[in-house]
Amino acid sequence: MTEPAIGLVLHSSEGVAHRFDPGALGLELLPTGGPGALSHYEVLNEPADLARWAAASRLRPDPGGLVVSPEDVAAARYLRDALWHIAVARVHGEPLPAPDLVVLNEAAAWRPPALRLAPDGGRTWRTPITGTQVLAAVARDAVELFSGPYADRVRECSAHDCRLVFVDVSRPGRRRWCSMEHCGNRHKVRAHRSRSQAYEAPEG
Ligand SMILES: [Zn+2]
Repeated sequence: MTEPAIGLVLHSSEGVAHRFDPGALGLELLPTGGPGALSHYEVLNEPADLARWAAASRLRPDPGGLVVSPEDVAAARYLRDALWHIAVARVHGEPLPAPDLVVLNEAAAWRPPALRLAPDGGRTWRTPITGTQVLAAVARDAVELFSGPYADRVRECSAHDCRLVFVDVSRPGRRRWCSMEHCGNRHKVRAHRSRSQAYEAPEG
């Protein structure tokens, strides 16, 4: 049995699916929407939406063991928007915004899901897992990320029209794109086009 791929499946404005792995659970909530103009991308509207996101996240809970309430959805959006402000401040080397830290640190204090050792030596989560527990895991991961050795590797995608944030955990540390299949590929196509245009341009 192969492990399912890590990362969320997103759709471009043209409807093309691509996989985006932000590199850490603490950043995985960001593509579900966000504050201001990012609210255009909102996908967390009801408990089933948050459960679907959690099941696809790197937490990999048993989808049948998730219990999500409408309050959890509101809390998820609240935490996510705070994480956006913190992540963007981190990317730009600015001080981390105090009100958003209050939101994050509050969620990090909630009870997280409990790991269990399975008879086959694998790991599972103790079920049921509540929406609050999922958010606690996200918040704790974000605290570790933003205070940890990879905090300086939190970046925005290099495409001028893409705001996705990821942490580059690769050894060389040269990740530039949210995903090679999407923005990386668009960049290659553009670079190729401008090279061939330059080549074909008449000397003037
Ligand atoms: Zn991108």
